[in-house]
Amino acid sequence: MTIPTITLNSGRDIPQLGFGVFQVDPAETERIVTDALEAGYRHIDTAAIYGNEEGVGRAIAKSGIPRDELFITTKQWITEQAADRSRPAIESSLEKLGLDRVDLYLIHWPAPANDLYVEAWHALEQFQADGLTSSIGVSNFLVPHLERLLDASDIVPAVNQIEVHPAYQQPGVQAFCRDKGIAIEAWAPLGQGKYPLFEEAAVADAAEAHGKTPAQVVIRWHLQRGHIVFPKSNRAERMAENFDVTDFELTIGEVAAITALERDGRVGSHPDSFN
Ligand code: NAD
Repeated sequence: MTIPTITLNSGRDIPQLGFGVFQVDPAETERIVTDALEAGYRHIDTAAIYGNEEGVGRAIAKSGIPRDELFITTKQWITEQAADRSRPAIESSLEKLGLDRVDLYLIHWPAPANDLYVEAWHALEQFQADGLTSSIGVSNFLVPHLERLLDASDIVPAVNQIEVHPAYQQPGVQAFCRDKGIAIEAWAPLGQGKYPLFEEAAVADAAEAHGKTPAQVVIRWHLQRGHIVFPKSNRAERMAENFDVTDFELTIGEVAAITALERDGRVGSHPDSFN
């Protein structure tokens, strides 16, 4: 299976489909990421706060897959002491991952009450210059956060990783990012199973028409909408299912019907109040 890539504004290519490890038990991470790599995934999305970077690192080391075939993202949790702790934070992540650089390093949440994200971004710009990460980006940034960041900095984020699934697509943030050349990474691509997405007629009908599962239809919808996605599953058969989405194409009408499921149905935290 050939997974499409997207060229980021940093000039680097990112596989459009990867594997996320939010809420993957650190004790099980090595096994689960090993399964994902065996299923064919080459793009892994983790974060310092997930507490499982070491397991990701062990799975990478054990796999023997050449480093340049992998795309590894991790994220910094910005705290009151961002300025002092920023470099130790990326160094700690790199050590746990067993890597000398990541492919993408993100500010995990803007945490606006702490008012540190601009300062944190300047540190990330330096990490990219120093070769600790190939690209830098943000996560959970709304338009006012992005406007402030762009006004104050030289590097435009390569990505904004935000909650996106059919019931919650953040069209305003997406339009702003498209205009600025910031790629959209969609977290909770399957809505984290928190609403009956797979029973929606638009999804179920397309699944029936293509002989695919509802999860495959939703992942395919993301790919055709241009989102970068990394659905998570602890189960090898679902990892394989979620990866097997390159042999069919949704029609324009099917994509539109799924896009019409938007209903401001956020399942995660609000970036303005999560600090
Ligand atoms: P998701 O939408 O990928 O949902 C995962 C859940 O969907 C699984 O636990 C499983 O129950 C179910 N599932 C997976 N495959 C399935 C299948 N084929 N059939 C039926 N059910 C299936 O949600 P997520 O894990 O929260 O998001 C994906 C990734 O996004 C995370 O692992 C993480 O890397 C990233 N993320 C980032 C942030 C952020 O703040 N930046 C927040 C949440 C998640």
